[in-house]
Amino acid sequence: MFRYSLLAVSALAMSACSAEITSDTVSKDSAVATPAANAQSKPSSGPMEKITSTDLGNGLHMLNGPGGNVAVSVGEDGVLVIDDKFARFGGQIVDIISSLSDGKIRYVLNTHHHGDHSGGNDVLAKTGAVIVAHDNVRNRLASDKADEPGYWPVLTYSEAATFHFNGQAVKIVHTPKAHTDGDSVIYFEGANLLHMGDNYFNGMFPYVDVKSGGSLQGMIAAQETGLSMINNGTTVMPGHGPIATYADMRESVKILKDIQNRVQAGIDKGQSVDVMIKAGVLSDYKDLVSFIDEAAMIRAAHASLTGK
Ligand SMILES: [Zn+2]
Repeated sequence: MFRYSLLAVSALAMSACSAEITSDTVSKDSAVATPAANAQSKPSSGPMEKITSTDLGNGLHMLNGPGGNVAVSVGEDGVLVIDDKFARFGGQIVDIISSLSDGKIRYVLNTHHHGDHSGGNDVLAKTGAVIVAHDNVRNRLASDKADEPGYWPVLTYSEAATFHFNGQAVKIVHTPKAHTDGDSVIYFEGANLLHMGDNYFNGMFPYVDVKSGGSLQGMIAAQETGLSMINNGTTVMPGHGPIATYADMRESVKILKDIQNRVQAGIDKGQSVDVMIKAGVLSDYKDLVSFIDEAAMIRAAHASLTGK
């Protein structure tokens, strides 16, 4: 309900993103509870739910609005899309891409299976696009959407792959047990842009989907993998939040390691997760509270570190 009341106020449309995630990818009570598979039960997008595009140069665009950040590469080979938001935005995404390029949508890559990153698959596949993702993304979508094969990736990989498209190498690297068990980061070498998917939430506590094979340690490792692929001048696109820099993501690694260390210290002292929450072990990180609050972050770190 909170989400719809926010969306009804156009002045707050930009802040609707975090509230949007609340109802689709995570329960307020637990950072490890709810995958995003129910996203398609939503009503059609209303007039307030506009997707907009930002030109990032070098043929790359970012699609903004509710759901995960989308990267679009346009050029002589056609169109390559990274992630496609919720199902109800499929038509809008196709329309906005046709305003950016006359070319065909050739490939859609999902950074992971959550419905705010793969929801447009069915609509985009019907335009002729090939859906590409890690093996585990197909496994999860084939299970969550067993009767809807239009959502399933038809080309999968286990570790890494490279597109040679629109005059540049686009390197895909799987990051194991990170936000989920099927995440990838994608580096557009020519444009010097890295899409981190939900391995990186810029400016907020991350959502770690432990139930889908994710872990805090894996998210830290994924960000370190991302940093190892890029340089000071790289544009870093997080799964959620504004565009970031190398320095921003390096700072994020520091914070996540600090969170990990604090929760591990509590575990080493024999403290329960409730005791740590009561003690406010992350209270100085209040600025990072969004749809994941301090308690949810502590629970996710605890579950990641204990396997429980
Ligand atoms: Zn996600």
